[in-house]
Amino acid sequence: MTTGQDTPASRIDTSRPHPARVYDFLLGGKDNYLVDQQVGEKLPEVARRACLLNRAFMHRASAWVAGTGVDQFLDIGTGIPTEPNLHQVVQAVAPAARVVYTDNDPIVLRHAEALLTSTPQGVTSYIEADVRDPETILAHAREVLDFDRPIALSLIALMHFLTDEEDPYGLTRTLVDALPSGSYLILSHGTADFLPAELSERIGSTYREGGMTLLARDRAQVERFFEGLEFVAPGLVSGPEWYKDTPAPEYEPNGVYVGVARVR
Ligand code: SAH
Repeated sequence: MTTGQDTPASRIDTSRPHPARVYDFLLGGKDNYLVDQQVGEKLPEVARRACLLNRAFMHRASAWVAGTGVDQFLDIGTGIPTEPNLHQVVQAVAPAARVVYTDNDPIVLRHAEALLTSTPQGVTSYIEADVRDPETILAHAREVLDFDRPIALSLIALMHFLTDEEDPYGLTRTLVDALPSGSYLILSHGTADFLPAELSERIGSTYREGGMTLLARDRAQVERFFEGLEFVAPGLVSGPEWYKDTPAPEYEPNGVYVGVARVR
């Protein structure tokens, strides 16, 4: 149907797979199309597990950061809503927490009402924007968050969709530099470091064949995102190895690096 209007629905391209929708499919969600399912079905099981482990890290890390007293969150590359969403996790700890969500995929905007179910004391806000345009994101975030108080920036399972030419390190630096001391960076990233080469090759090539970029980066390359920041224990580890005051998740070989670091 052509409406001629620029609505989120009219901008959703169902002829090509999209990372947000493939991720939704792998998490068991319903907001995806045949093209996304076809990519998801070709991916090895370890890719589906990586999504679940990554999401579980997001829950643990954001709850922990909220527990330290940080009550402002800027989440970029939010994804299609999947309960519990970040604001639900952090508002369970800090009911007055303010959360700004951002994604560049129109399908996320279409489902954004599910992200805007704030507690009465807190605030949630959504903006459709691209991480490659950090100034637009920061300008919106400044309207909702107080940049004189600590903010947790989450870039969770986002930067592996950017090539080096798109300058993921410089973009991260621009965002982090806008944050006051005592803020946090919560980041996860796909890696081939813990998996047989054949498996990670298959993941990369399946995304490529779908016209998407998914770049595994190694330890040194992922560490670079945290340059100048102070890692919180246990540092940069694989998904299930990051936990604080909750029981240790069961370990399994996986394809995600995760870490939380503090802005000095
Ligand atoms: N952070 C969520 C979702 C990860 S899936 C989680 O970890 O559970 C990655 C998300 O990043 C997708 O929703 C995709 O649309 C979004 N994304 C990819 N490239 C982006 C870009 N350049 N700018 C903003 N969002 C992007």
